[in-house]
Order: sequence, then structure tokens, then C-alpha cells
Amino acid sequence: MLVLQAFARRPEPGTRLTLVAKDRLTPYSGMLPGHMAGFYPRDALHIDLERLARRCGAVLIQDEAISFDRDAGQVRLRGGGTISYDILSINIGITPDLSDLEGAEEHALAVKPIGDLLPKWDQLVQDAHKPDGPRRIVIVGGGVAGICLAFAVSSSLRAKVGSSIEVTLVSASAAPEINSRMRRRVERALERRGIKVWAGCAAIAVDPQGITLAGGRRIPADRVLVSTQAAPPPALQHCGLAKDEKDFLAVGPTLQVLNDKAVFAAGDCATMLGHPRPKAGVFAVRQGPVLARNLRRALRGEALETYIPQRRHLVLIGTGDGQAIGGRGRWLAFEGRWAWRLKDWLDRRFMRRFS
Ligand SMILES: Cc1cc2nc3c(=O)[nH]c(=O)nc-3n(C[C@H](O)[C@H](O)[C@H](O)COP(=O)(O)OP(=O)(O)OC[C@H]3O[C@@H](n4cnc5c(N)ncnc54)[C@H](O)[C@@H]3O)c2cc1C
Repeated sequence: MLVLQAFARRPEPGTRLTLVAKDRLTPYSGMLPGHMAGFYPRDALHIDLERLARRCGAVLIQDEAISFDRDAGQVRLRGGGTISYDILSINIGITPDLSDLEGAEEHALAVKPIGDLLPKWDQLVQDAHKPDGPRRIVIVGGGVAGICLAFAVSSSLRAKVGSSIEVTLVSASAAPEINSRMRRRVERALERRGIKVWAGCAAIAVDPQGITLAGGRRIPADRVLVSTQAAPPPALQHCGLAKDEKDFLAVGPTLQVLNDKAVFAAGDCATMLGHPRPKAGVFAVRQGPVLARNLRRALRGEALETYIPQRRHLVLIGTGDGQAIGGRGRWLAFEGRWAWRLKDWLDRRFMRRFS
């Protein structure tokens, strides 16, 4: 999105831009829990890629890239076509890694890819309205996304269905982006809202009656949402591009894949070797303008810019009730209505860039 925006603002003569995207409307994850909690209408958190592509003269191909052929310089599409490239930029995010969670494919709702989450959420809400519908919701994964979802699910379903809704958050390890002061505030907020937490507990299996933790304890559940570790998308298998130890694309400080100067990658699907950071939108967003400038420089045959991601960043978690908890670095932690207003302002400002 940020590359398209940069090329819309300043077109590059003689360049043909092609955007391959699975969905025409792409949701902005920062506002997704706020939408689930009822703060934003659906169209407020979606970006229309067709309109964005049109603005910069790019061709939008609504299809899925299934493999990359470096020797031929081609992207293969699920629909059967191929696209030739001189320069390729891969920014396809992540898929959920359900391999350590037996039964999750059949019995759990994966939070990623995020574009698929809203239809699953709509179904859950619809089911919850039935007298015998789901009441006990378990969220597996205590990262920032899992915590945001726990607050959003709890406030939304309790408002719609009533106090019979029970939300439980199961977390194997603490989110690295959250400092200890912020973590204490988050724990207190979860407790105040009646959200049960199983911290330091890995879920190992999901079945229609609930989940099983390592050690054998059972947690009954009517629906299970999984927001755990991510895996690289299948399209990256067998592509011959350099990878890190978890099979994400390995890029250097110019955002070029280490073994192919014609291929760039950014966001969750890539790891900057030497400067690994959590897979969070803030890092993807900061890479965007650098990626745009380096694609332009590569097209012109100019020297590329190098980029080192910063370590500290602001983390803001909405609590689903018009308040938020925030933190930055090792010490700063805060919360309140003003923190939600700050998050809301930042998110809306981000979205205005694409409207
Ligand atoms: C509920 C939730 C809340 C979050 N909140 C925050 C937050 O508050 N702050 C924060 O920093 N991070 C947050 N994150 C993390 C954030 O969503 C990701 O880090 C960010 O979206 C990564 O951006 P990306 O561009 O790399 O990938 P994505 O945003 O996942 O975009 C990838 C795009 O590629 C498309 N695509 C995928 N595969 C293919 C293919 N093969 N062919 C064509 N198109 C394809 C997808 O449809 C999608 O449009 C949250 C995540 C979740 C799940």
C-alpha cells in the first residue's frame, strides 16, 4: 500500500507497475479489534486496492501468487496465468502455524490471514445470538494481537449476548514488545473485565469440546481462536530465495533478498538478518517508504538506501471499552481514555492516507 501511494504521488516514467493481491479490499489490522468491539464500521478499516492501484496507474490482478520462478523472472498465479517481472517485491504476510496444535485445522478459527477473519467473526456472532450458541470463547496466543482480540471479543459478545459469555486467553510466553509495567496494566485490565488468563501454558490440541494444555489440563470451549506463531506463506516454498532459520525470506538492509538483487521483500514475510524484529505492523509500515524509494532506485540503476529498523516502538492495545493501554521501550506504560483517543487518531490518520 505504501509503495503504491509513493508511486501515485510521484510516478516513475517508463515503469509498468502490477499489483497481485488476493483481495480487492484489504483490512487494516490496527483497527480490526476496534471494529469487532463496535467502534468502527466495516468500511472504515478497509482499503480499496483497486482504487489505490488506479491512482498510480498500476494494474491490479486479483489473484494469488502461488510460486516465484527466478530463472524465468515470473510469478505464477493460482488462476493459471504468469506475470513476468524485471523487479519483484514480495509482501505477502504470514499464514498461521497450526502444526503444534493438533485438531486446530478442523476445530479452531485462525486469526491469520487477517482478510479471512471477518467472515469467521460474523459467523461466531451470529451463532452466539442463538439460545444454545457458543458462550465459552478461548483465544490461544498471548501476543499483542491475541490480547487485543481477547478484549474485543469480550466487550463485543458481552454487549450483544450478555454476561454469560466467558473469554479465556491462553498464552505460552509473554509478548516481547510489552514491557513489565505495561504487562501489569494489561493483566489488571484483563482481570477487571473477567477475562481468564492461562499464562505460561502452551495449548497442544483443540477438539469440539475445548483445548488441552501441555501437561494435560483441559479448558472447555465452544469456539477457539488461534493467534499464535506464524509461518511463511506456502508460495515461498521451493522458490530458491534466501531464507532465515524459520523459512521467512532473508533480506538485507536494502530490503533486497540476500541471494537475488531483483527481488525485494518487506513486512511479516521477511526477516532483516542481523536486525530481526517482532512481526508487527509498525515495522512493515516503516519499511514501506524505504521499499518504495529502493524500488525506484533499482529501476533507475541507482545505488540503494540502507535501513536499520529502530528497536523501540509505541505499543497501544485497545481494551474494547473506549480505553487503551500503551507502552514504549523498557519503562514507559500508561492507560486511559486519552490513550484510546491517541490510538484512534493515529489509526484514522494512517487510513486517511489511502482514502
Ligand atoms: C488482530 C490483529 C491485530 C493486530 N494489531 C496490530 C497493531 O495494533 N499494531 C501492529 O504493529 N501490528 C498489529 N498486528 C500485526 C499486523 O497485522 C502485521 O504485522 C501486518 O499486517 C504485516 O503487514 P504485511 O504487509 O507484511 O502483511 P499483511 O498485512 O498480512 O498483508 C499481506 C497481503 O498480501 C495478501 N496476500 C497474501 N498471500 C498472497 C499471495 N500468495 N498472493 C497475493 N496476495 C497475497 C494478503 O491478502 C494481504 O492483503 C495485528 C495483527 C492481528 C492479527
